[in-house]
This record gives sequence, structure tokens and C-alpha cells, in this order.
Amino acid sequence: MTEQRRAELAGRLEAVRERIAAACSAAGRNPGEVALLAVTKTVPAVDVATLIDLGVEAFGENRAQEAAAKAVEVAELRPAATPRWHFVGGLQRNKARTVAPWAARVESVDSVRLADALDAAVRRAADEGQRDAPLSVLLQYSVDGDPKRGGIPLDGPDGLLQLADHVAGCPALRLDGLMTVAPLGADPDAAFAAVEAAAARLRAAHPAATELSAGMSGDLEVAIRHGSTSVRVGTALVGERRIASG
Ligand SMILES: *Cc1c(COP(=O)(O)O)cnc(C)c1O
Repeated sequence: MTEQRRAELAGRLEAVRERIAAACSAAGRNPGEVALLAVTKTVPAVDVATLIDLGVEAFGENRAQEAAAKAVEVAELRPAATPRWHFVGGLQRNKARTVAPWAARVESVDSVRLADALDAAVRRAADEGQRDAPLSVLLQYSVDGDPKRGGIPLDGPDGLLQLADHVAGCPALRLDGLMTVAPLGADPDAAFAAVEAAAARLRAAHPAATELSAGMSGDLEVAIRHGSTSVRVGTALVGERRIASG
């Protein structure tokens, strides 16, 4: 870790925090209501350690294998730190056991089968002494139904509200809210307004599901205007991807 990289990360972090604060102020919201998730996919563990030194508490990853190895490396670099790891990518059921030992939250749950696999994997990890808390879960909502972006629609038998009822009955999972990736090319204001309405319907059925993970480097202001409680910021924080994601 060069001093130069540390200074770069510090400067970028300050700029991101200022954007969040300005967006909250414009929306009449308290900046304490919007958490920052640093998305560190493809970023080396040493950068994560530096971000921990700079006060970042939560990190998002989208590849199970890469993230599991990185969580171990970061723990070696900063043994006293307690970073929270969120999984934010598409997750195969057979990777649930790779994620269960280190993930505080999985933000991309979009099927009953995946929920059941995570529930079983978390209980197993608990039995093996690898974790003690339930897994926080966000359900991934798709505004436009495009399967390439991940997520599911709100209504219908395979919809998010049905899945929410199922997750609420999984003993090792805690249903905390909704996550979304805005559709490419759509009007972000209309897209995040739809997300806000979806989150409200989920909350009406499950009052404890208050989290809304929405907004990335390019659109965090719009997401905050529409009720985001957690922005997932990669590029604006760490720069362009540094190593191949694998
Ligand atoms: C990479 C990624 C982000 C961060 O995107 P940036 O545009 O780099 O800020 C957020 N959410 C998910 C699901 C991602 O995969």
C-alpha cells in the first residue's frame, strides 16, 4: 500500500460522503439514515484494509469465491476490525455454503430455492462455530423484469411479496428489506420511484423490512431522493476495477 493510494482512497471517500450528505440535505433527510456500502469486487484486500482504517464499516462483493478469500485476507491484515460483508451479486444455490461463514447480509435473494439453500448453509455454519448471528437478507427487486440485471417482480406466484413470506419463515434468515439495480437506460427518477413504491408494499406486509439498498456511483442522489437507506458505491470510491474479477 503506497501512501499515494491511501491518499487517493481518502480523497474519493470524502467526495462520496459529501455527495451522500448533499443528497440527504436536498431530500430533507438525515445523513445518518443512509449507509455507505463500499463495493470492493476486484479490489485487493489491502485496499479494503485501508478503507477500514478510513472508517468504512461495510463492504460489498459479487463473487462468492473471491469474497471468501478476501474476507480471510482482510481479517489477517486487520485482526481487530469487524467489517461487515454483504454479498450483492447473482448467487448459485451451490455457493450458499461459500457465503455463509462470512456474510452478514445477502442482498440478492430472488428465489425460494436460494433462500432455502442459504437458510440451511447458515444453520450449518452456526453448528460448525463459524457464525452466530442469523443472515440478514434483502430481496432483489427488478423494476423492468429484465433477468440479466437480476431480481424479480413484486407480484405473482414467483414474485417478491410471496418470497418475503417464505423468507420470514426461515429460522436462520432475517428479512430486512429490498435491493435493486436500476435498469440501464431507463429514466432513473421513474425507476427509483417504482422501487420506493415496491419497498413500501414490502414494508406494509413485513414492517421490520425497512432497508432499501439502492443507488450506485452514477445514481446515488436519485436513489436517496427516493428513500434509499444504503448506497452501494464501487467506482467512485475505488476507481476503475483493478484486478480481474474471478
Ligand atoms: C459493482 C456493483 C455496484 C457498484 O457499482 P459502481 O457503479 O461501480 O458504483 C453496486 N451494486 C452491485 C450489485 C454491483 O455489482
